[in-house]
Amino acid sequence: MNLLKERILKDGKIIGEDILKVDSFLNHQIDVKLMNEIGREFKRRFQGEKVTKILTIESSGIGVACITAQYFDYVPVIFAKKHEAFNLDLETYEADIFSFTKNKPYRIRVSKRFLSSEDSVLIIDDFLANGSASLGLVKIVKDAGGRVVGVGIVIEKAFQNGRKVLEKENVRIESLAVIKSMKNGEVIFD
Ligand code: 5GP
Repeated sequence: MNLLKERILKDGKIIGEDILKVDSFLNHQIDVKLMNEIGREFKRRFQGEKVTKILTIESSGIGVACITAQYFDYVPVIFAKKHEAFNLDLETYEADIFSFTKNKPYRIRVSKRFLSSEDSVLIIDDFLANGSASLGLVKIVKDAGGRVVGVGIVIEKAFQNGRKVLEKENVRIESLAVIKSMKNGEVIFD
């Protein structure tokens, strides 16, 4: 998706060797117009697929997922929660994830009320790095007996292992910008 790639080149900041900061348009301040084009592109990629729910993970995935849902007949968006809370149901689907950016493990949870074996679920996330977050979401859909339509990723870092990990699960992956390398402060796309 050229619009997205151009924006990454213009405003993305490389942190260390393998983190891309896109907080001026995706992760902190959100460019809604760009987000709208991202949603439209996910619809184009998954055209013809039956989607009953969109599943993402808090917090950065929520905006992308909600805008994308509008292109899929306003299907409900579910976001996996990262923290236990009084107002979260006791009956939950869970997955353990290793956070790439925080370098620590955590557990995500989705209430059993919101996913079932009737669901065809499109998983959406902002980044694909080593695949832990997406894999956890795939596990949750499968634990619910649902069907994973595919995983839609805004930015994939192809020099990390995420795609390999997800392909083992036979999951279709659609990434809108695929970064081949980020060496010497320069983003190179596939
Ligand atoms: P994974 O689980 O695939 O290793 O990492 C994906 C998750 O980590 C995403 O949900 C995203 O929030 C975060 N993440 C991974 N790499 C980056 C990155 O380069 N930049 C930002 N902003 N977030 C990242």
